[in-house]
Amino acid sequence: MAKRDYYEVLGVDKSASEGDIKKAYRKAAMKYHPDKFANASDAEKKDAEEKFKEINEAYQILSDPQKKQQYDQFGHAAFEGGAGFGGGNFNNFDFGDIFGDIFGGGGSGFGGFEGFSGFGGSSRRSYVEPGHDLRYNLEITLEEAAKGVEKTIKYKRTGQCEHCHGTGGEDSKMKTCPTCNGQGTVRTQQRTILGMMQSETVCPDCHGKGEVPEKKCKHCHGTGTAKETVEKKVNVPAGIDDGQKLKYAGLGEASQNGGPNGDLYVVIRIKSHDIFVRDRENLYCEVPISYSTAVLGGEVEIPTLNGKKTIKVPEGTESGRLLKVKGEGIKSLRGYGQGDIIVKITIETPKKLNDKQKELLQKFEESLNEKNYEQKSSFMKKVKKFFKDIIE
Ligand SMILES: [Zn+2]
Ligand SMILES: [Zn+2]
Repeated sequence: MAKRDYYEVLGVDKSASEGDIKKAYRKAAMKYHPDKFANASDAEKKDAEEKFKEINEAYQILSDPQKKQQYDQFGHAAFEGGAGFGGGNFNNFDFGDIFGDIFGGGGSGFGGFEGFSGFGGSSRRSYVEPGHDLRYNLEITLEEAAKGVEKTIKYKRTGQCEHCHGTGGEDSKMKTCPTCNGQGTVRTQQRTILGMMQSETVCPDCHGKGEVPEKKCKHCHGTGTAKETVEKKVNVPAGIDDGQKLKYAGLGEASQNGGPNGDLYVVIRIKSHDIFVRDRENLYCEVPISYSTAVLGGEVEIPTLNGKKTIKVPEGTESGRLLKVKGEGIKSLRGYGQGDIIVKITIETPKKLNDKQKELLQKFEESLNEKNYEQKSSFMKKVKKFFKDIIE
């Protein structure tokens, strides 16, 4: 693949000032930052990763007056060929920034933050890691899901130590981390196929904070965190379905190094119902009716989430027939429309008849002819033809 023009990559023209280049870089790097693609597909992730590297590379060149001049004069050729990696113009090139995640120099989970040292501010802030997300399974009934419900949940999490306000230091007193001199990162040398490489990793002593306690807080032993039980009111909206999540930003675990809290995800689980089976906004239920109601038609009482309702069963209803009761289903979560109740009729065959009943039924049956049994007589005709065909 041909290398794209560095100016094009950053979306600036050749006359752009240093400030403009920096601004354009910041904007582009934010757009394709790996953190933004945490939930994207693999293909999207890969594409963003490529773009992110491309942007960083372009910035490394264009932000350096000498390299920029060479690039302006010779284009990409200025940095290719034998004089390239490891020597010549690249003496001061910071490989850690661009290639860190390829060669694992970034430390676990921090690869995405590489290249941000170009922002000019303190690099400390870039190395903080947010706390873990938490998941809470909340079981509710179908009725609660249909109407919405407020629940109070209780869960344990790693929170901030209240004695040291999360700093880990006694009386919150901190000093500059001696390991990294307050940078939050340490540089390590690595031998690779491209020669010696320098890469940055998060400081193992201050975990990126750049400062350590003067004296460790005795309540949390310097971690800055403490286990706590949180009570949270959760408003479950009407229409929510099984497996859907409610997100509460910042209610997850505290960060180990001064970063933002993780998030809390409340995952809704709907208990199975004695009568209804839900399919999105519709509710299905099976209603057994008597043989005579099926034959003569009539009214049947059915349950709904708003109480009982009487529906009409047409004369001559077959077993398995579906009857729709409009608008008695679940309200759409998005606020418009409401599902239906779909009633599946089953005809219950009467059992344990006494002699008198059997006799009555026998008499009734004898009174019927083939017109009363369209299906049966059509089937019998087919059977007759079938055997006739075989014999011939
Ligand atoms: Zn503490
Ligand atoms: Zn440190």
